[in-house]
Amino acid sequence: MKAYIDLHTHSTASDGSMRPSELVRHAKEKGLSCIAITDHDTLDGVDEALKEASASGIELIPGVEIGVDFKPEMHILGYFSTSNYTRIIPVLSRLRMLREQRNPKIVDKLNEMGFKISMEDVRAKAGGKVIGRPHIAKALLEKGYVKTTQEAFEKYLACGKPAYFRKDMLSPEEGIKEIKNAGGVPVLAHPVHLMKTIKDMDALLAELKGYGLSGIEAHYTDNTSHDTGILLRLAIKYDFIATGGSDFHGSFKENIDIGVGRGNLKIEYGVLEELKKLF
Ligand code: AMP
Ligand code: ZN
Ligand code: FE
Ligand code: FE
Repeated sequence: MKAYIDLHTHSTASDGSMRPSELVRHAKEKGLSCIAITDHDTLDGVDEALKEASASGIELIPGVEIGVDFKPEMHILGYFSTSNYTRIIPVLSRLRMLREQRNPKIVDKLNEMGFKISMEDVRAKAGGKVIGRPHIAKALLEKGYVKTTQEAFEKYLACGKPAYFRKDMLSPEEGIKEIKNAGGVPVLAHPVHLMKTIKDMDALLAELKGYGLSGIEAHYTDNTSHDTGILLRLAIKYDFIATGGSDFHGSFKENIDIGVGRGNLKIEYGVLEELKKLF
């Protein structure tokens, strides 16, 4: 039997703290057989990660995570084969432009609230082109305004908090279809964050199935085992692949490690075999 995998990780190409090559080496050290690199709105980390993966002897799946228009938030993961992942790039460039309009608004609002942070402070936390709220959280942390990045989200940055601004986004239908049109496999990220009742979740999944969604992230860092049970049953009902990932961000999200999340995540290699059938 192959070792466990992790289909949701972030590198310095977006808001992770490890370079793509470090991320792959970290996965190797933790004994994983495969990771997907799923940065926000960019595939810039993929080439470096692929090189390191072939050197380290683990498998690397090119992926991306995009936010789509839904309250409070919905993220769609797209997985690609190593030969076709560049087809989605023009869509991602558009999404990054929309993201760039949001960050200064957040920083201005924080300044109004009395926090002395600048876009330069935030940019200094980012390794690549994609700047996001975790970089802002990290800047607030380093200036001593919060004790953890989680606290920065809970008090200021999360949807509904005083320094939250939405960005223009694709609709869920558009997001799913853009990934499919580019030859990718669309999967709903962390459905547990959207689960109010089982009935609502069921209706939402029926709708997303209609747009072409292929899988749901049934195994996730923030799930209870009860949540996972519900999501696995819904995956069977709608014939979705039940994928899984930790959403590892290195030091930008405390207490989450690659492969295992907060300790008990386990994603079987068989999930990847299901995914690959759709490439
Ligand atoms: P952005 O792409 O700038 O909207 O930031 C999205 C990232 O922020 C996600 O990948 C999460 O890592 C992080 N994030 C969003 N909401 C929260 C939250 N409530 N608590 C902690 N991290 C969050
Ligand atoms: Zn992130
Ligand atoms: Fe996400
Ligand atoms: Fe993520």
